[in-house]
Amino acid sequence: MMWCGRYIIMKIRHLSDKKYTITGEKGLVYLVDLEANGGKGSCTCPDFKFNIKNKYKKGLHVPPCKHILYVLGYLVWNKLNKN
Ligand SMILES: [Zn+2]
Repeated sequence: MMWCGRYIIMKIRHLSDKKYTITGEKGLVYLVDLEANGGKGSCTCPDFKFNIKNKYKKGLHVPPCKHILYVLGYLVWNKLNKN
């Protein structure tokens, strides 16, 4: 799925089960695991590693990083638009 215009184009690749790689800004590749952290997901990006992960450890309710949200959005979109 490619989004144009103001959106950053990110490429998703399915690895296995609930694991995906996502090519984000500057061509950096992050690993997203949707099953980690009790279903909240995990990502290897700095935002998740240094910010969100610690909040999940403390049991705080914060939204995941944009990569996790992007993968989830992609999956939902595919579900709604499958032929
Ligand atoms: Zn991320």
